[in-house]
Amino acid sequence: MEKAMRRFRQQLSADECTAILHSATSGVLSLCGADMQPYGVPLSHVYYSGKLYFHSAVNGHKLELIKENSNVSFTIISKDEIHPEKYTTYFKSVIAFGKIRVVEDEEEKLGILEILGRRCNPHDRDSLANEIAKGARNCVALEMSIDRISGKQAIELVK
Ligand SMILES: Cc1cc2nc3c(=O)[nH]c(=O)nc-3n(C[C@H](O)[C@H](O)[C@H](O)COP(=O)(O)OP(=O)(O)OC[C@H]3O[C@@H](n4cnc5c(N)ncnc54)[C@H](O)[C@@H]3O)c2cc1C
Repeated sequence: MEKAMRRFRQQLSADECTAILHSATSGVLSLCGADMQPYGVPLSHVYYSGKLYFHSAVNGHKLELIKENSNVSFTIISKDEIHPEKYTTYFKSVIAFGKIRVVEDEEEKLGILEILGRRCNPHDRDSLANEIAKGARNCVALEMSIDRISGKQAIELVK
């Protein structure tokens, strides 16, 4: 359910949110399965063509929950600067809400693994191709489509 930000002056613009999704390298994927126990798991991501992409082992807690409930959110903290004299932090963060799926199509999966790999090491295409050839069998690619993004910054950062 969409909630308006109470402190709306601190809201980040859509462009600022997108810039953070692009520049950050990881965040926390929040899931909730049938047992209703929330699970937030840190993951590396890539933001590409308006979607978030991840890779994962073929089994595990997060994959079990994704199968039970595809509704997720992904949270990125892009700034957390403590100012001791003010007993506060100058922060910037973004939350994306949407749905996640395991990419079943093999070619699509390999394309996503390449995008993720290039993010880690953009300079060595041969080594990436080897890595994908070796590891693709043992991992899955995940695609999160985004329904809504909100971003917020500390009041001290508001111009
Ligand atoms: C910055 C960062 C980037 C990462 N990038 C990736 C990535 O791109 N792909 C990827 O697959 N994994 C990544 N990881 C590891 C990820 O957080 C999980 O540990 C991993 O994906 C296994 O998740 P799972 O749900 O299958 O856990 P399982 O192995 O099924 O875990 C079982 C239990 O272990 C605990 N657990 C699992 N992971 C963590 C954790 N990180 N911290 C504390 N407790 C944990 C939980 O209690 C969980 O219920 C990253 C971690 C960090 C910190």
